[in-house]
Amino acid sequence: MIAPAWLSKKLGDSKVLCLACAHACKLSPGEFGRCGVRVNRDGELKLTVHSLAAAAHIDPIEKKPLFHFLPGSLVFSIGTVGCNLCCSFCQNWEISQHPQNNGFEVFGYEMPPEKVVDLALQNGCKSIAYTYNEPVVFFEYTYDTAKLARKNGLKNVYVTSGFETKKAIDELSDLIDAMNIDIKFFKDQSYKDISCARLKPVLDCVEYSYEKGIWIEITTLIIPGINDSDEELRDIAEFIASIDKNIPWHVSRFHPDYKMLDRPPTPPQTLKRAYKIAKEAGLNYIYIGNYPDADLESTYCPECGFKVIERDGYVGERVTNRLKEGKCPKCGSSIAGVWR
Ligand code: SF4
Ligand code: SF4
Repeated sequence: MIAPAWLSKKLGDSKVLCLACAHACKLSPGEFGRCGVRVNRDGELKLTVHSLAAAAHIDPIEKKPLFHFLPGSLVFSIGTVGCNLCCSFCQNWEISQHPQNNGFEVFGYEMPPEKVVDLALQNGCKSIAYTYNEPVVFFEYTYDTAKLARKNGLKNVYVTSGFETKKAIDELSDLIDAMNIDIKFFKDQSYKDISCARLKPVLDCVEYSYEKGIWIEITTLIIPGINDSDEELRDIAEFIASIDKNIPWHVSRFHPDYKMLDRPPTPPQTLKRAYKIAKEAGLNYIYIGNYPDADLESTYCPECGFKVIERDGYVGERVTNRLKEGKCPKCGSSIAGVWR
């Protein structure tokens, strides 16, 4: 469905500036933004995928991944076609790159905000996640859904590559309870070459979302030969620690996909090396993803070492939450997160 994309500004000569992401596309009539789903129609910016979900699933919240946010709960997850990035390893490329590669064609199930909220409630979900592709490109759909979700007692989650503008975060901060933000690399050149993006806006987004009081967790997909050096891993870990040592960092295993087929899956020892580097940087909560290791997926009290949340089996399959009102049951220390 085509709807006004109000997160935008009219310029002279019927041009519009999109205010959703750091690409800051200035579009003439008829022109589409880099995400392929925001277009200037007769001097007004429009979103071509409002209420059109290309993917919708009920997932465990651990799959987003969010480990310190309503553990063991279900999240109703939606995404659309289109994306402002072009990651060559994208696991969702069939939807994320579809409009850009097919004359701006879109597809999906008709799913207005009312239907998303109803389905979430009917299926016992505690939150709605905007995920699969970059949610800020379908900002107005997420905004309308999140507002209705809030009214119905549901929380909202953004799973994002962190290329949002401050303006977008300002608009979202009263509605979005948690974000999982990717820090894909710590080199600007890698962002440019592999993802059609830049590093600085991502770091700014992490800092600003944290300042705005949104619960954040970070994910890095570790790709052999690209971002797996001790130095780059340390840079990411130290950046996170400089904001707050209680921000969880998920280091995730790469599998060849889309255009990046020339590299092997991340060796388990690389994931363990990243874990060790993150510990040295002072991070309290580090998790290994896409690789089964119950010990490295569980949460430990940073004060006494007690296993406060145990995770086992396939992602979100067995979650044993031993926290007592957000505190370690053994020593009483508070564990950072959103627990109810
Ligand atoms: S969301 Fe799309 S149109 Fe808007 S600035 Fe980003 S790439 Fe451009
Ligand atoms: S930001 Fe995410 S959805 Fe978009 S291209 Fe990159 S990996 Fe795919």
